[in-house]
Amino acid sequence: MIVILQPDTTRESDAYRQTLAFLTALPGIQVRIHEEHGAQQVLTEIYLVGDTSPLSQEEISSLPGVERVVRVSQEYRILGRHKDDNRPTAFTYNGVHFGQDNLNIFAGLCAVDNPEHVEMMMKALQEHGQTCTRMGAYKPRTNPYSFQGHGKNCLPYVFELAGKYDIKVIAMEITHEDHVDEIRDALRQTGNPTGIMLQIGTRNTQNFELLKAVGRQREFPVLLKRGFGITLEESLNAAEYLASEGNTKVIFGLRGMKTNMGDPHRNFVDFAHVPVIKRLTRMPVCIDPSHSVGTRQQAPDGLLDIMHVTAQGVIAGANMILVDFHPVPGKALVDGPQALTLDELAYFIQDVKIARHAYDERCLLAEKQHG
Ligand code: PEP
Ligand code: MN
Repeated sequence: MIVILQPDTTRESDAYRQTLAFLTALPGIQVRIHEEHGAQQVLTEIYLVGDTSPLSQEEISSLPGVERVVRVSQEYRILGRHKDDNRPTAFTYNGVHFGQDNLNIFAGLCAVDNPEHVEMMMKALQEHGQTCTRMGAYKPRTNPYSFQGHGKNCLPYVFELAGKYDIKVIAMEITHEDHVDEIRDALRQTGNPTGIMLQIGTRNTQNFELLKAVGRQREFPVLLKRGFGITLEESLNAAEYLASEGNTKVIFGLRGMKTNMGDPHRNFVDFAHVPVIKRLTRMPVCIDPSHSVGTRQQAPDGLLDIMHVTAQGVIAGANMILVDFHPVPGKALVDGPQALTLDELAYFIQDVKIARHAYDERCLLAEKQHG
């Protein structure tokens, strides 16, 4: 059960004290408090954990300072969408809005290789009105002898260049909690020129200690990739780990499933789950067409498979696109064969706009039909 207090009910107020005294005295019920500090106000949500079925929703609703009580109808207590649950589905980070109601493109390098390529990428993004990107510094590789990413050494120039080209948010994978400190330190040393969205890759979706550590910090939002060999429910529970530790700024990323049923694509594309995740949870949904498809194969209609699946995800309501670009894919140290080139950026953005427009039209049509 979730008890939502009226905005700005402070810890010092009588209402807060009385309500908390009542809730903490409930037998067999554990009370967890979550505070969301927005620009305007503080929102307090109190989670009641345990057997809440005998509790009266009406009685708890009438406690002082209580705005609403939501009975948890399924597993994902914090990130889930429950009956009569109108809690927000959006957050803002470094001036960028992330929600189930909009769409952000994160085109960029799978792996940072050198400052020249980072600059070429970011310059192209700015020229095309983009303020978000992806940049891999810590790369989890299957082969221990493959390039592992430049790690913290590349962070200062990546962040400075991001500032120079007005990039507001960089999605960056981390594979260890120490990387969060390295990122925070490098941001400070360079004067906080940009923002970071911490990415947890598909190989770490169920790395629970990493999830807990990343969930404990609230400075950086998190993009959690779906595990490539586990059920959707297991991956959504992994997202809930982040939230249960305090960080609710979580985006859920679809990146294809590992099975040879998807051949000849690198992974079996799972973007049909975009609306499913939006129905089950309040998380914005990201699609990663590059790691799903994994090749630059083209269909007879002239469109790359990557473009086709991107459009399929967007027309189904995706909220974020993570996509690999590279100025010289032949020289990329990781995933060159799936990278789009800088001269394809304008075309990619335009194609996404067409698909998003079609999605908007479809929503209007559904509204007309269902009222
Ligand atoms: C990536 O986005 O660079 C990546 C490694 O993705 P995934 O974890 O989905 O394989
Ligand atoms: Mn990659």
